[in-house]
Amino acid sequence: MSMTKEQEEKFKKLGLSSCIELALVVPSSYEDLRVHEKLQIHTMQLIDATVESVCRAPNSLQITFFAHNFGHLITGVLFRPKPYMLHQFKVGDRDYYYGMVECKSGFCSMSMPKKVTNIGAITPKYKSALRSDVMFRLIQSSLTKENLISEGLKEEIAEELLHVHFPAQIVPNLRDLEPKIVDALKYSELFSYMKQLSNKRRYFKALTSTCSDYEKWAQTLPFRLTHEQVKSIEEIKADFSKELSARRMIVGDVGSGKTMVILASALMMLPNRSVLMAPTTILANQLYAEAKKFLPDIKIALVTSKTKDINLDEYDFIIGTHALLYRELPCASLVMVDEQHRFGTAQRNLLEKLVSSGEKKPHFLQFSATPIPRTQAMIETAHIDVSLITTTPFKKDITSRVIHKNDFKELLEHIKMEIQSGNQVLLVYPLVEQSEVLEYQSIDEARGFWEKRFSNVYVTHGKDKEKEEVLLEFNKSGAILIATTVVEVGISLPRLSTVVIVGAERLGLSTLHQLRGRVSRTGLKGYCFLYTNQSSSERLDRFTQTSSGFDIANLDLKFRKGGDLLKGHNQSGSQFKWVDLAEDEEIVKSVKEDLGKRK
Ligand code: ADP
Ligand code: MG
Repeated sequence: MSMTKEQEEKFKKLGLSSCIELALVVPSSYEDLRVHEKLQIHTMQLIDATVESVCRAPNSLQITFFAHNFGHLITGVLFRPKPYMLHQFKVGDRDYYYGMVECKSGFCSMSMPKKVTNIGAITPKYKSALRSDVMFRLIQSSLTKENLISEGLKEEIAEELLHVHFPAQIVPNLRDLEPKIVDALKYSELFSYMKQLSNKRRYFKALTSTCSDYEKWAQTLPFRLTHEQVKSIEEIKADFSKELSARRMIVGDVGSGKTMVILASALMMLPNRSVLMAPTTILANQLYAEAKKFLPDIKIALVTSKTKDINLDEYDFIIGTHALLYRELPCASLVMVDEQHRFGTAQRNLLEKLVSSGEKKPHFLQFSATPIPRTQAMIETAHIDVSLITTTPFKKDITSRVIHKNDFKELLEHIKMEIQSGNQVLLVYPLVEQSEVLEYQSIDEARGFWEKRFSNVYVTHGKDKEKEEVLLEFNKSGAILIATTVVEVGISLPRLSTVVIVGAERLGLSTLHQLRGRVSRTGLKGYCFLYTNQSSSERLDRFTQTSSGFDIANLDLKFRKGGDLLKGHNQSGSQFKWVDLAEDEEIVKSVKEDLGKRK
């Protein structure tokens, strides 16, 4: 729509950029200035009344009205009346007054009656950065069906939205809006959000749009790729064959086999070069080892901070850490980032920039081990393509249990047994600063206990500069690792069979799930103990019964109110006012479909 300067300023003041967003600022209440014949108790309403008498008291003014529309006497009460109010009510005058009516045993009163003139309309009241009447005029001038439709909204949705702001017959009760209207608000909220997301997506010509075969290679593997691994690879294959550069996020639980998708992608990119960045040296090393093993015929380079000068031009597949960002890189047709949430957007973009030249861009794949709710994934597809890997190649056998103080002895026994049979145990404790406000021991308070009773105890935490070395040492010769949630990263500790999480209720379900994903990575029987002082927690109980990360993500939505203390921010804060990601899958679907049709 074309806006006047004045309208533009008001939109700016409200922080809104479209009429749909304006429509989503719903009234906080309505003034019903129509004349009704039926009196309603405890409701703001209009009376057409003659003043019968006026009675002044020190702090109040009492007016007896005869309400013609109800045929009833109503006593108006003004507390601490302003001087001008004293002259507003003259015996014998007939006017319209508006106020809250209450009745008790036949006696009716209206507190703070207000003289009104704009009779016959239902007027919405707004609480926003603008004064209510200014807001109302803005709505009247810019919120039209045509404008909403021109922003892409369907006619029937636009009509429902208009009902909220221009109620015709029935005053909407905001606490209990009609389901049809609520759905329209949800739809519009999503539509607006996803439309903006899709506007953010940039389309670039791809450096290459050829794609080699991966099927023959897949047959040489010691296992069969899972259905969803194949599906992701096929989606990537289709991306690679397009003129536009791919932007895809592959989301799969820890252990779902994303590395095979990475390797297949590098393979399909041949004879062109691929670059892969991982968040830690350990992970880069692991990926490098797997790449060497499964892609023996490809020239693969490893780049970490320790890497001396090597001529990267000679390699088809470059695997590295952040160190990649600090050196000159040859052009590449495919950029991949593993554990993408460990990097900032700037770092991911920089890598892409370092390997591209000119207008054309490499294909870009990001891998994430943080399962997201299906609805969230659908929303993301507005600006990035998403592949989900929801299954793992082999089912992990992990027993999860919530435990309390009186289970501690049994826990100690269990730990002893595991260590005796050559397995390793991870104990997750809060950091010192965090334990001050919590009733749990911190790492520093707890380590003495374990070090006294066991040998080969290793300790590390997020701020520990040596944490990678400690993890490597532990992997080789450790029995117990005491740590904070640093071990969240996708490192592999093949002998780890047990994880104990102290103060588990402090953590979000997805964090708990990441921690649980550390154990039983190679088919070992695994145990996950959630140690808590809380006597009961439905959230933790449900967690112990759920194993798929995607189910956990959906569960997390349901228990949103529990934030994630450790991460220092509340993950439960939803970006939506109307949409409930746990329940509104159908609406997300229809918005996605409708937005797709517009292209
Ligand atoms: P993640 O998704 O966490 O990166 P990985 O790629 O590290 O998972 O895979 C976990 C383990 O599963 C690895 O040891 C890998 O070799 C193995 N694996 C991957 N795909 C399959 C498969 N289709 N069948 C059996 N094992 C597989
Ligand atoms: Mg991985």
